[in-house]
Amino acid sequence: MAENYIKISCTECQRVTYWRGTSHRKKGVEKKKLETTKFCKFCRKHTVHKESK
Ligand SMILES: [Zn+2]
Repeated sequence: MAENYIKISCTECQRVTYWRGTSHRKKGVEKKKLETTKFCKFCRKHTVHKESK
């Protein structure tokens, strides 16, 4: 079975900074896109990150 990965990209530089596997996720949880503040290694600061498939 192929595992799905969600790209988490920085909204400031548009780069993909994290990958997250979805196999451990509960069903029904991924209806709305997550928006979270993470450290972006490209911007070298905390920025808003969004999930994209
Ligand atoms: Zn960035």
